[in-house]
Amino acid sequence: MKNSDFINKRLHEELQHFKNRVFELENLAVTDSLTGLYNNRYFKDRLDQEIERSKRYKKPLCLLMIDIDDFKKCNDTHGHLEGDCLIIEISKMLTKESRLADIVCRYAGDEFVIILPEADVVRAKIYANKIRVAVNELELKCKPSISIGICELAIGMDTTSIIDKADKAMYKAKHAGKNRISDLVEVL
Ligand code: GH3
Ligand code: MG
Repeated sequence: MKNSDFINKRLHEELQHFKNRVFELENLAVTDSLTGLYNNRYFKDRLDQEIERSKRYKKPLCLLMIDIDDFKKCNDTHGHLEGDCLIIEISKMLTKESRLADIVCRYAGDEFVIILPEADVVRAKIYANKIRVAVNELELKCKPSISIGICELAIGMDTTSIIDKADKAMYKAKHAGKNRISDLVEVL
């Protein structure tokens, strides 16, 4: 091999190594370390983009706010490791039940958010109920359930207001007795 070929090969390898490392770091920056789901930072950026897209192409968009019921009791009774396990199992289930276009993220602690592009509130409710039931069926030490708030993007809403409304809907589901879904209008 000529000396210049050798140098080119080495440079190519170094560049590839550098690109791989950048890719890894970019992934780390948007990933929640416990669950491997997208993190809160990615969620907010992506929601901004999806709202823009939804408005431009006049397509529906729904946001689901999900909170584990009585999670503190699970931690207190079975320990934090079992609590972590519950968070991980719910994350896996949310990923399994979602479509490729759905964006599943860990919002904070025991809260998750899912962006459903091109879904209206009817489809969002069917999906939400499916995951609510799937969580009930998880076989873990803590008998898990979740409360889900749904908000469909409407005229005049932005990133902050859709999150706020989905959050309020979720608290409505909590106050109505937990293990249910709510879209602010009604509780199922
Ligand atoms: P509610 O039904 O009203 O949602 O009650 P809750 O007990 O789920 O709600 P609360 O917000 O009081 O408790 C959430 C707890 O989640 C508090 C915090 O210690 C715990 N937590 C937050 N992040 C983690 C985590 O990564 N792992 C574990 N094991 N616990 C966590
Ligand atoms: Mg909770």
